[in-house]
Amino acid sequence: IRHLVLVLGDQLNHDSEAFTDFDPQSDRVWMAENDEEATHVWCHQTRLVGFFSPMRHFREELIQRGFDVIYHELTGDRRKARESSFASVLRKTLSAHSVEKILVVAPGDYRVREQLKATAEQEDVPLEFLTDNHFYCSPDQFDDWASGRKSMVMEQFYRTMRKEHSILLDEEGAPEGGQWNFDQDNRKTFGKGGPKEVPPTPSFKPDSITQEVIAMVRDRFEDHPGKVDQFDLPVCRDDALNSLDDFIEHRLPLFGTYQDAMWEGETFLYHSRLSHSINLHLLSPKEVVDAAVKAYKDGNAPLNCVEGFVRQILGWREYVRGVYWNRMPDYEERNALHCDSEQDVPPFFWDGNTDMACVSDAMRLLVDTAYAHHIQRLMVLGLFAQLFGTHPLRFHHWHMAMYADAIDWVSLPNALGMSQYGDGGLMATKPYCATGKYINRMSNHCKNCRYDPAKSTGEDACPFTTLYWDFLDRHKQQFQNNNRMTLQLKNIERKDSSEWTAIRSRARKIRSGTIKLQQ
Ligand code: FAD
Ligand code: SF4
Repeated sequence: IRHLVLVLGDQLNHDSEAFTDFDPQSDRVWMAENDEEATHVWCHQTRLVGFFSPMRHFREELIQRGFDVIYHELTGDRRKARESSFASVLRKTLSAHSVEKILVVAPGDYRVREQLKATAEQEDVPLEFLTDNHFYCSPDQFDDWASGRKSMVMEQFYRTMRKEHSILLDEEGAPEGGQWNFDQDNRKTFGKGGPKEVPPTPSFKPDSITQEVIAMVRDRFEDHPGKVDQFDLPVCRDDALNSLDDFIEHRLPLFGTYQDAMWEGETFLYHSRLSHSINLHLLSPKEVVDAAVKAYKDGNAPLNCVEGFVRQILGWREYVRGVYWNRMPDYEERNALHCDSEQDVPPFFWDGNTDMACVSDAMRLLVDTAYAHHIQRLMVLGLFAQLFGTHPLRFHHWHMAMYADAIDWVSLPNALGMSQYGDGGLMATKPYCATGKYINRMSNHCKNCRYDPAKSTGEDACPFTTLYWDFLDRHKQQFQNNNRMTLQLKNIERKDSSEWTAIRSRARKIRSGTIKLQQ
């Protein structure tokens, strides 16, 4: 074999650099399902199907296009469970064939990159990493942008990207609509009446390949968290394109307006549910952004919604990837709030068994679909984990386990950095900490909850509110010079010592599990 072309589970694009120079006579594609990737963090069953089924579909497409594919498939046989690692499967191929060179698009996970290097070195086969063309900004470009800056503010990066790629600019090069940011239009709540008939996201019925994968996952990974009976994610490019069209037509026109809102029992609201497809490379970020901008130009979606959406993809998504490669491997170790390394997420983060209405609703979605939308991730589950004192790396590992769209490069900066403030302010200038009143403002959850968001002490005190005050108290020294925290810290003085004693005691009981927060 001249080139063994490795295709990883999140590299399922036919226009990949890996195929540019492919010679069907002398090259082979190599793909592998393996236990290690499924178990190095505990993995939601929907997440597993969400990787393996698109991989098998991609294999079929490659074969139809005349590629010769070596594919390592997992079976439901539990006796073979936990035996395969990425490196061990690759080693078997390298010893069975004479390979001149391994080609692979640069992996999105630092650990996998290092593992590949080590395996190639051990087997004495040259390895070349190719550019991942599914991003607007390469890690090198990001490093250039970041070098010499005191802080890496996303807004500055986003504006640079808008200008560089001429996205939503008028003829003078100024931002379309005269402003870069429409955040003030994009924080609406649903009001008392709730959302009006939100158009549902498309649902893709499992075909025979997906059904086989579901059966395999149920057998081989039966002890893993989450459910798989509602699996309906896109598993090939055609499905993903349908998802994109549907979003642009039906939900983009209200995406920005309600992007921070929540409502009991609602699932995807106006969110795109495209992250899984984009992260697996079934869709390119460029075509997604182009489709949204076209909807604006055609008069089918307002600017605040389109700008809000473009900001997520061209801004946040590219930015977190830049941060990841700029800061790894040290980034993983960051623990700016000095959380106890043993402090894991609370037990109900695995099954949703809690009497907190907001957490229970977000967990229902997560357990059933391996999805929660951004504000649930940040201001419900992430906020609770932070106030609870969860170690930021453990929170990232939990995130990797539970979400279908989680890949190291995107989960780590979002989970450890933005959500848990583990990086001490690189991603977010202040921690996202709030009381239950924030959730009360943005949703109707508190109306159906046994707790009161305004109370910090007593039997019915909202756990968010109790833990918030305790959090501020524990970290007040650390934040005393952070201007953005001044107002929050000032309120500490308003409480008297007996209230503090009650808050600290209740917070301790919540953290130790004496107060269970379970139904
Ligand atoms: P929409 O709300 O429709 O947003 C549109 C798209 O913008 C998304 O599909 C996604 O591609 C992109 N996007 C938006 N925000 C971000 C962001 N902060 N970082 C990267 N891309 C963004 N996103 C992941 O893709 N994988 C993760 O593992 C992940 N982990 C997260 C962990 C935490 C704690 C938080 C707060 C956010 C995380 N995000 C992650 C970002 C964001 O929450 C998800 O991309 C989004 O909720 C996915 O749903 P959607 O496709 O409906 O997104
Ligand atoms: Fe969540 Fe607290 Fe509101 Fe209950 S009262 S829904 S726990 S914020």
